[in-house]
Amino acid sequence: MKAVVIRRPNRARFGDEADPVVGNGEILVKVALAGVCMSDVEVMKGTRPQPYVKYPIIPGHEWCGTVERVGSGVKRIAVGDRVAVEGHNFCRTCAWCSRGETNLCASYSELGFTLPGAFAEYVAVRADLAHPFAKALPFEAAAMVEPFACVVHGGRRARIQREDTVVVVGPGTIGLLAVGWAAMARPARLVAVGRDRGNEGLARRMGATEYLTVVDDPAARIREMTGGPGADVVLEAAGSETAVTLALDLVRRGGAVILSGIAGGGRRAFLDSDVFALKHLRVDGVFAYTTDSFEQALRIIESGKLDVRALITHTLRLREFEKAFDLLSNRPEPVVKVMLKP
Ligand SMILES: [Zn+2]
Ligand SMILES: [Zn+2]
Repeated sequence: MKAVVIRRPNRARFGDEADPVVGNGEILVKVALAGVCMSDVEVMKGTRPQPYVKYPIIPGHEWCGTVERVGSGVKRIAVGDRVAVEGHNFCRTCAWCSRGETNLCASYSELGFTLPGAFAEYVAVRADLAHPFAKALPFEAAAMVEPFACVVHGGRRARIQREDTVVVVGPGTIGLLAVGWAAMARPARLVAVGRDRGNEGLARRMGATEYLTVVDDPAARIREMTGGPGADVVLEAAGSETAVTLALDLVRRGGAVILSGIAGGGRRAFLDSDVFALKHLRVDGVFAYTTDSFEQALRIIESGKLDVRALITHTLRLREFEKAFDLLSNRPEPVVKVMLKP
């Protein structure tokens, strides 16, 4: 089969690879579409933290496809099924898995990072990680389930109420999906805060009622909007240490902050250490998603409530992967989600 392989940082090629072998309890999936994520760029550049990548690797973890073959012992899934696939190949037996916290499994293993991913024609995966979806759901939408699962997993903890002012910091793919998630709860106000106005149109399309940039003094503007207190819920998906301090600044006393951005490189934030107690904050960090959240994300997308396809700005052939990586890391033109088609 054809695949993209990153041999080591900054050394990648598109070419022939051995077809994956389907073991017991596994299925072979023909990849329809795979999204490119900033974490794929990190794998390419060699900036992803050590335990979270194993070279050489076929990247690709935001994807879907059609079942081509099923291994022995597979019952729930049949040839011809269309599936979206969870990335975390959790062990099912460690302390975290036993608690249902499969995203935190003690032996981290994830498709596209430590196991062969979806920048390829075929992937062999554990059948229990594959989630079938209706034929009416376009592959473009199903390929967005994985990033949306991260949003659902964090968003559920936010417990958004109708009268809330909700702020999303960082309107990239995850942030825009978070706007869409929050909009489903119909809060009184839904504000997106970005570095520039580049994604304002998309943020509004996903349901933002207001859009601010960091130079608009968002803290002052949000205090103004709320008559003083600040936001009830802040969802952060920016991936910079300054976004963390901004999120803590925007939230009201007794409010909730959900942090899901990763700044990387061991960055440190300079914080007023009393902010958590004095503001009586509920702060949650969110890492990936569980099977539950993945399934819920798929069902929401399948229902058509969210126009996730609006976020796809580019669709390229798999062999053009270098262009895709360049689009994301250098942004020579407006880009949100880039899809690769084998
Ligand atoms: Zn991703
Ligand atoms: Zn485990």
